[in-house]
Amino acid sequence: SYRKGGYHAVRIGDPFASGRYIAQRKLGWGQFSTVWLAYDTHSAKYVALKIQKSAQQFAQAALHEIDVLCSIADGDPSNSKCVVRLIDHFKHTGPNGQHLCMVLEFLGDSLLQLIRFNRYKGLELNKVREICKCVLIALDYLHRELGIIHTDLKPENILLLSTIDPSRDPIKSGLLTPILERPEGGTLNGGSAYIEKKMKRRAKRAVATISSRRDSMGGQSSKPPRCLDGIDMRCKVVDFGNACWADKRFAEEIQTRQYRAPEVILLSGYTFSVDMWSFACIVFELATGDMMFAPKTGEGFSEDEDHLALMMELLGKMPRKIAVGGARSKDFFDRHGDLKRIRRLKYLPLDRLLVNKYKFAETDAREFMEFLSPLLDFAPEKRPTALQCLQHPWLNLRSSDGQSNVDAGMNKLKI
Ligand code: ATP
Ligand code: MG
Ligand code: MG
Repeated sequence: SYRKGGYHAVRIGDPFASGRYIAQRKLGWGQFSTVWLAYDTHSAKYVALKIQKSAQQFAQAALHEIDVLCSIADGDPSNSKCVVRLIDHFKHTGPNGQHLCMVLEFLGDSLLQLIRFNRYKGLELNKVREICKCVLIALDYLHRELGIIHTDLKPENILLLSTIDPSRDPIKSGLLTPILERPEGGTLNGGSAYIEKKMKRRAKRAVATISSRRDSMGGQSSKPPRCLDGIDMRCKVVDFGNACWADKRFAEEIQTRQYRAPEVILLSGYTFSVDMWSFACIVFELATGDMMFAPKTGEGFSEDEDHLALMMELLGKMPRKIAVGGARSKDFFDRHGDLKRIRRLKYLPLDRLLVNKYKFAETDAREFMEFLSPLLDFAPEKRPTALQCLQHPWLNLRSSDGQSNVDAGMNKLKI
């Protein structure tokens, strides 16, 4: 990807924008860009520098992202809406072409890293609640005030606030954690990393299967970074490369596979409520360490059909009208609203799953489900809005137990 039209190769110490920004260290990358920690000599602060690939379509995407980030910044002068702040943008010419660059406020680790550091055990519910509040503040702002749909909410695109004073060197002070390596440009979209060996076809489609990330990272016991110890869990939503205005949508196929709403699979049209579906998937993953839905292709059925089957096994049968109502419905459902190729579903409601598999206490499971399940309504218009979620009593409950949900359940079992 480091060729004409692709990424710009950066060396530590490279200057950008006529010397204003000095590259320090790679923070991450995506399909569109590499992201660098840079020192801003004007403000004497550290910033994140997102350097886009140079080809026309990437430049176009960056211009769109800058446009979205500008509206976000304009509408939130006090920077309190839990969305990443665009500080500056410019063009940089290198051997691979002209790259659009975005200067963003420097944030910390992603929720995906947090889940990994926690060894996929699930975070304490109190921490999950704090994260939920931030993400909901962001979604309420984007949806209700700006009319923007994010369309790619997932743990990688929610970053914790670094507790580092931005004028201190985050590397020297030991507060910046190394980025866990993954294949360049690899995303969850392809799902190719999924490795499952022995199980038979039926068992393969178990509800909330262990995620591909867990398979590839499961044995790893990375130490939690110091900046995660005992802080309040505040975070911000990033990556507006795929965001759109509700009245100006671009793509039909949106969202990363595991966080994709049913109406997107069925091509029934979508609006803000697709973000609420992804939000629910993320909350489940934070609390349990497992992805809520990790579909895969099987003998005689597609990944899409498996995904729909997993949804129904957890949430109950999809109402016929919704099942047959999309442009792609005929690919999956017969006219009765039954899946064509996956006939016998193994239903296991969310609260039972939480108790049986994740060893939640009964009360925790019931309360958690009361918050989560309305967000997973197959009817998009029935899902609560971010504002309605912010008013939900679950967010203000307090578990006295400092342990993770899973551990707490285990102890109860022993007693
Ligand atoms: P995608 O392929 O997901 O569209 P992308 O090329 O649009 O990716 P981003 O998701 O914006 O890039 O950023 C890639 C990674 O860089 C993030 O997952 C994160 O690890 C890191 N990153 C992005 N923005 C920041 C920031 N403001 N502060 C710190 N790290 C960041
Ligand atoms: Mg991203
Ligand atoms: Mg992006």
